[in-house]
Amino acid sequence: MIDHAQIQQQALSYACPEDAFKDRVILVTGAGDGIGRGIALALASHGATVILLGRTQEKLEAVYDQIKAGGYPEPALAPVNLEVARPQDYEELATLFEREFGRLDGILHNASMLGELTPLEQYGYETWESVMQVNANAPFYLTRAMMPLLQKSEDASVVFTSSSVGRKGRAFWGAYSASKFATEGLMQILADEQENVSSIRSNSINPGATRTNMRALAYPAEDANTLKTPADIAPAYLFLLGPASKGVTGQAVNAQ
Ligand code: NDP
Repeated sequence: MIDHAQIQQQALSYACPEDAFKDRVILVTGAGDGIGRGIALALASHGATVILLGRTQEKLEAVYDQIKAGGYPEPALAPVNLEVARPQDYEELATLFEREFGRLDGILHNASMLGELTPLEQYGYETWESVMQVNANAPFYLTRAMMPLLQKSEDASVVFTSSSVGRKGRAFWGAYSASKFATEGLMQILADEQENVSSIRSNSINPGATRTNMRALAYPAEDANTLKTPADIAPAYLFLLGPASKGVTGQAVNAQ
């Protein structure tokens, strides 16, 4: 039995073989920008067929073009606004993916919104609901709808994106922090339910400070050049999403 510290170490030092994701179909949410974009590109460059889900069609198309230009497997586009999508929409997506691919080998739940950095006593009710919808409810709806497709994979990996404030609450981080605790809960429940029952495994990843729009929004005074890029933190994602972590489940991992 490998312990958590060993898994963490393996994730950080993972050197992904070029064809590790050959014949794997991986869905990435928030794939049009930031970390999701970086990981979608990394997955494709290691052979994955990536389903790019996001709310801004032009951004998804730009990632599509970049993957095609690299000569990697043709990705699929799934323009979805997670703030407004209803369970039925996810069921319809599952039907589409079933027809197109027949199965899913992984999901990276990456899309999130930051909301407000405000004390709870002033936190906007509507912002709270939007953040919980995108960060916590949508990953549940999506995972539930995709379960039949994940069950068709011999090695399905579901990765939830957490944060340091999803592991310890912090003043002013409101719905974002609470939603990330919900994310860790979802991850643990799925891992516990599926262990020894199916090949579906479930883990969470905390990217750590990474150079993206969300980070700039949360820390406007910070020098972004001091931060890791999405490409820098890709090894831990490739480890958790791919064959190298087969059998690893229920783990909360850091990408830095
Ligand atoms: P960004 O804001 O840079 O990117 C978020 C992505 O999610 C964008 O592509 C965005 O689409 C998409 N998205 C947001 N809302 C919706 C929605 N309603 N429907 C569909 N897609 C949506 O964030 P990061 O790349 O920084 O964050 C990625 C993940 O990492 C998040 O879960 C975040 O909480 C987590 N994280 C990031 C850290 C960091 O330092 N960057 C630190 C800790 C955790 P669009 O571009 O169209 O707006």
